[in-house]
Amino acid sequence: MNLILFGPPGAGKGTQAKVLQEEGGLIQLSTGDMLRASVAAGSDLGKRCKAIMDRGDLVTDDIVVGIIAERLDQPDCANGVVFDGFPRTIAQAEALDKMLATRGASIAAVIELKVEDEALVGRVAQRSLETGGTRGDDTPETLRKRLEVYRKNTAPLLDFYRAQGKLTSVDGMAPIPEVSGAIRRILKDLKG
Ligand code: ADP
Repeated sequence: MNLILFGPPGAGKGTQAKVLQEEGGLIQLSTGDMLRASVAAGSDLGKRCKAIMDRGDLVTDDIVVGIIAERLDQPDCANGVVFDGFPRTIAQAEALDKMLATRGASIAAVIELKVEDEALVGRVAQRSLETGGTRGDDTPETLRKRLEVYRKNTAPLLDFYRAQGKLTSVDGMAPIPEVSGAIRRILKDLKG
């Protein structure tokens, strides 16, 4: 089963994707983590993406669609994946539907983590403290930019997936275990 965790920066997508990976055996595919790995490795791709990420903009659709397509072909993804931070534009969502269809797969559900803006600011500040500022984009200014990009480019995906009948929302303001519980119930309903 393939899922998408959806929400603004700091909504808790990565946290819940890790829970789904540990409990449900789904593979977490985080484009943010993959891009940061490229930056850390100093690859050409990383060099092209670093400045864009540091200022809170989106890297091009071609780049992220390419890295996801490559990763999906690895055997561990066959049992299902949880997309975290992808897709972020309508073009990415359309490319994802196509790439899954050619592999005989599809998205089972899109789970939106709903969190208020003020809470996001606090969470990202906390993460920045915890990671010692290793993420160049976890500053208040860049977060503001990322939220703006989220609203403009990514939030329209909510309607895209609602139209496909795949969207469900959970209260992302609740404590982590409660959010995990709400997601578990959605998956149980899906499996029938
Ligand atoms: P966030 O906590 O803001 O959701 P991510 O770790 O998912 O952060 O992404 C960090 C940055 O990586 C984004 O601001 C963007 O520059 C880049 N990025 C990640 N995923 C994508 C994507 N699907 N499309 C374009 N850019 C992406």
